[in-house]
Amino acid sequence: MTNSTASDANELWSRSSESDSGPRRVARVIVDLSIDRAFDYLVPEALSGDVMLGSRVTVDLGHGRRTGYVVRLLDRSDVPRLKPILEVSPSNPYIPEDVLSVATWMATYYLAPVERAIRAVLPAPVRRRTEAFKKERWVAPALASGDWPAGLEKKAPKQAKVLAHLCEHGETRTTDLTAITGATASVIKTLADKGWVKIREAAAYRNPFRDHVVLPTQPLPLMPQQAEALALCFRAIDTLEPPVVLLNGVTGSGKTEVYLQAIAHARTQGKTAIVLVPEIALTPQTVDRFRSRFGDCVAVLHSELSEGERHDEWHRIRRGEAEVVIGARSALFAPLARLGLIIVDEEHEPTYKQEELPKYNARDVAVVRGRISRCPVLLGTATPSLETYQNVLRKRYAMARMPHRVDHRKMPLMRIVDMRTEADKEGKLHIFSRDLIDAIEQRLTLHEQTILFLNRRGYSSSLICMKCGHVCECPECSISMTYHKTTEKLLCHLCGHEERVPAACPSCRDPAFKFTGVGTQRIEEITRKLFSRATVVRMDSDTMTRKDAYRTVLGDFRSGKIDILIGTQMIAKGLHFPNVTLVGVMFADLSLHMPDFRAAERTYQLLTQVAGRAGRGDVVGEVIVQTFSPQHWAIQSARRLDYETFADQELAFREELMYPPHAHLVCITAKGKSERRVSWCLQQFADQLQPRLGKGVILSGPAPAPLARIKGHFRFQLVMRAAQTREITGPLKTLLFNYPWPPDVQVATDVDAVSMG
Ligand code: ADP
Ligand code: ZN
Repeated sequence: MTNSTASDANELWSRSSESDSGPRRVARVIVDLSIDRAFDYLVPEALSGDVMLGSRVTVDLGHGRRTGYVVRLLDRSDVPRLKPILEVSPSNPYIPEDVLSVATWMATYYLAPVERAIRAVLPAPVRRRTEAFKKERWVAPALASGDWPAGLEKKAPKQAKVLAHLCEHGETRTTDLTAITGATASVIKTLADKGWVKIREAAAYRNPFRDHVVLPTQPLPLMPQQAEALALCFRAIDTLEPPVVLLNGVTGSGKTEVYLQAIAHARTQGKTAIVLVPEIALTPQTVDRFRSRFGDCVAVLHSELSEGERHDEWHRIRRGEAEVVIGARSALFAPLARLGLIIVDEEHEPTYKQEELPKYNARDVAVVRGRISRCPVLLGTATPSLETYQNVLRKRYAMARMPHRVDHRKMPLMRIVDMRTEADKEGKLHIFSRDLIDAIEQRLTLHEQTILFLNRRGYSSSLICMKCGHVCECPECSISMTYHKTTEKLLCHLCGHEERVPAACPSCRDPAFKFTGVGTQRIEEITRKLFSRATVVRMDSDTMTRKDAYRTVLGDFRSGKIDILIGTQMIAKGLHFPNVTLVGVMFADLSLHMPDFRAAERTYQLLTQVAGRAGRGDVVGEVIVQTFSPQHWAIQSARRLDYETFADQELAFREELMYPPHAHLVCITAKGKSERRVSWCLQQFADQLQPRLGKGVILSGPAPAPLARIKGHFRFQLVMRAAQTREITGPLKTLLFNYPWPPDVQVATDVDAVSMG
């Protein structure tokens, strides 16, 4: 991804070949239809001043009128007898030129129709309507104070009251006026009819912050590590050198304060900023930290706003009334002019990857928008993705490190418990080690709180020997093989390699090999048995089906009503509970042996994150990690908080097997009702594709996808790896788009897939 540039965008969309002089006669328009085609239209003389790149236009297509967007302006077209553009939206250009370039870049890079890329950069409520603000009415006095007829107070006290208010306070919103004076709308209308007041209509912004007031904050005096990081950011903002900065700081090291002061610096130069945060972190508290510093020029864009709010926020940004935009993924496309900084917080988060076409990664596209909009990009995290770290090692990005917490509190102690010896000692499988039981008992006595964490994802998909921790890996791909119950087989979903499930563990010969996992529910039962005096609550997607249930439990936990909280990913992130002094990680192997080459990276991130939950109060926290693989580098380096060592080992592993970041990965998934047909079609496709691919491309599969069957559909995938995405997407594109896929087989392509599902 980082190797490609904006100029990769295919020739159809580039604007470089045209001269800048004279009015353009022809506009190439993308319409709101799922077809990857643009149509040429004549620009009528009367509209020639208004039709620009990114304009929103109405055109005739087939038998109806369509809305579309101008993606290119030309002097002439090869198409004879063009139809004219019928209308153009007065708000111009609708899509700013840099955002349009980003969209076309995405279409090319992620192999998506341009129309889908245009959709991705415009929020649905904005696309659907032309500006549709709610209107509100304002009333202004047309008389000076005391100019109204004597005796009005007696004759029409309501009218007098309204006039008095207006003369004192000036123009007032109708809704406020009626609330304050008790006058009805008809009273105001009477006054208007007499010419004593004037009424005007204005757009009412639906403000997502409503009346939620925040107290202003001032920049804090910085710690040395923050000052150093900020100096680097200033350099990036002032000179675009370096263009991308990785801010690698532990949780609580003061990254957000650095973001705030970097944005403030850009603002002094009249520039604007975008802040991306993962959806789950986009809480009112996060937004408030920015509003407290920057006030009303902060806008938010995310999916939880109402349609009206999203519409209004977008237009507020486009008109230049908002200068700092915070949001999840799609806020990256905010129509800000004079962009001075893009911040991607928690850049390693897989949720930055969009699951629909175009399947873009907002972190990567942020770097592309930075390049196109000529603004620096700041990536922040405690656990950099290996893609980003590799770019630092290769000197494409600069890095600032913030290894200390602002409050100088110690990071929690992490203890690794070897469950293999634990199983030996006790003679059978134990879910709680002696150490963990003792540690929990101790917390109960001290009235401190415990979190038990279980990563359930993938637990039933790999087989773990409960005695020695052995997991069967594919001999070719070195990722855990997936257990298929129905066929009693182990399968590599990357290359399709298949084996029978061995009768005993290949490593220690234990017959108890077929471990299929322990869920949170079972852990809850055992916890209740072991600690009968404790209040135990389980929090996962099964128990937390309602949003307020989640809030209630967290509230109870914070107020100390709960002693032990058991949970999944839901509790790993961003929650602060000062009285939690112990975190137990139940089966660390479950994430270590996910059938994914990123399993070790995810485990490292998870352990670091989970550790951040312990000991935020006055007491140093403790983390107990129970695992069958105590020697694994992900676990050992997480214990020492040693990201560099982890990354070095992991990069070596990835290089040997040519996994990202040493290669780019493109995944094609086909699904359909007939297993044989899907697999056969994909094999046919692979056979045609193979000879077109260069030597540098590794093609694996077709193999059943890790989620081999969803809702009655069988899923198979092809995975390609190469040093450059282009080596894959070039040959793939021509074949893929013209390939006669049968209607009962659906195909999806994922460029730079982050998880193979
Ligand atoms: P991070 O984003 O790295 O997790 P934060 O920016 O949230 O860290 O900082 C953690 C806490 O420390 C916050 O409450 C923040 O207000 C405070 N803080 C940050 N920088 C400073 C500073 N220089 N002086 C005092 N307090 C600070
Ligand atoms: Zn394999």
